Amino acid sequence: MDRLVCYECGEAYTFGETSRCACGEPLWFATDAASFSWPDEQTNAAGDRSLGRDTLWRYRSVLPATAPTELAAVAGGTPFFRARSIEAGDGPRIHLKIEGVSPTGSFKDRGTAVGISRLDGPIGTVSHGNMALSVAAHAAATNRDAVILVAEDTPDSRLAMIAQHDPHLFRVRGEYGRLYDDTLEHDLGVSFLNSDSPLRVAGQKTVAYEICEAFRPDVPDAIVLPVSSGGQASGVWKALRELHTAGLIATLPRICLAQAERCDPIAQAFRRGASRVDAVSGEPTAAVSINNADPPSGTRALAAVSETDGAVVSISEDAMLAETDRLAADAGLSVEPSCAVATAGVRKLTAAGEFAPTDDVAVILTGSGYKYGPPPGETPPIREIDRADVPEVVSRVSS
Ligand SMILES: *Cc1c(COP(=O)(O)O)cnc(C)c1O
Ligand SMILES: [Zn+2]
Repeated sequence: MDRLVCYECGEAYTFGETSRCACGEPLWFATDAASFSWPDEQTNAAGDRSLGRDTLWRYRSVLPATAPTELAAVAGGTPFFRARSIEAGDGPRIHLKIEGVSPTGSFKDRGTAVGISRLDGPIGTVSHGNMALSVAAHAAATNRDAVILVAEDTPDSRLAMIAQHDPHLFRVRGEYGRLYDDTLEHDLGVSFLNSDSPLRVAGQKTVAYEICEAFRPDVPDAIVLPVSSGGQASGVWKALRELHTAGLIATLPRICLAQAERCDPIAQAFRRGASRVDAVSGEPTAAVSINNADPPSGTRALAAVSETDGAVVSISEDAMLAETDRLAADAGLSVEPSCAVATAGVRKLTAAGEFAPTDDVAVILTGSGYKYGPPPGETPPIREIDRADVPEVVSRVSS
């Protein structure tokens, strides 16, 4: 699988030549999925004896890498279940995909796994969050050099987390937004796996393969996810198109995207009815992992929405934080505010009449909340008690 193609104008390229089309849009792999069928066997491509669960390598016949290296062997295969505890009376059935159980706590491991298994030599990324962590960990597991370029204002606590995996970590002064292009324009001897690189999109499409496989023979009415660069949304759209081509889904679920109101270029373009996404000047938000004011695959994500009759919603800071609390208290799931926008988005779309109680909505919870901890300044409600009082105090809890 060595051809890249433009979703927009159809122009084809050889893998390695470029990752953007002459028309300006991002490329993805040309995948022949016509003869794909759901694998019946449990797939263990690593050849290890017991991984305990299935992985994304189950779909290796439609991936640009087939032999996973080390940690990459366990990517994907995340839990998916119906979460009645957070459904609203007038809302749809909600099914949650828990990407936070991935080795480094986010869906980014899917793209990194496919990328690192395909590429040789040093790998790099421009990120100060989940992608940096994922690339650093997978490079460590394969004993390869990782180059991580972070923005000047990245907090030390984050750097310390990434640094655990021993990458070459550089704080970059100057315009951080330009680095994405810089790393692709120059031949640096390092393969950069940035947010929407074709290998990453190929890995990330597998989340939609898993959702649709779990639903068969039905199809969910919608797939809802947070969006930043548009890489994951592109992957979901690509997967649905492939499954449709293969005759495995009769209709495409609606792709619905959620952003933080403080930085919502894709939602703004959607509301304007535009077909292209323009850069905005975003503000800081608690949704740090989706704060991208100039998303490289924004226009492609918008196309995914319009081609599937989906929607894009903006979530206020208050609603996002309330939803983060609700997921923890009602569903038992600690997530980043960046992914709580997705279930907050389901509520907003339900209120707007977009979802009915008979609809099945699959929500991708993209990252675990455990690694970032509670919002700074929040003191947990703890009572101090003496040991002698434990029997009395505890017995009162249930009475
Ligand atoms: C990266 C990330 C996103 C956004 O994904 P894109 O592919 O950049 O659109 C959403 N949630 C979390 C937790 C992330 O780390
Ligand atoms: Zn093109």
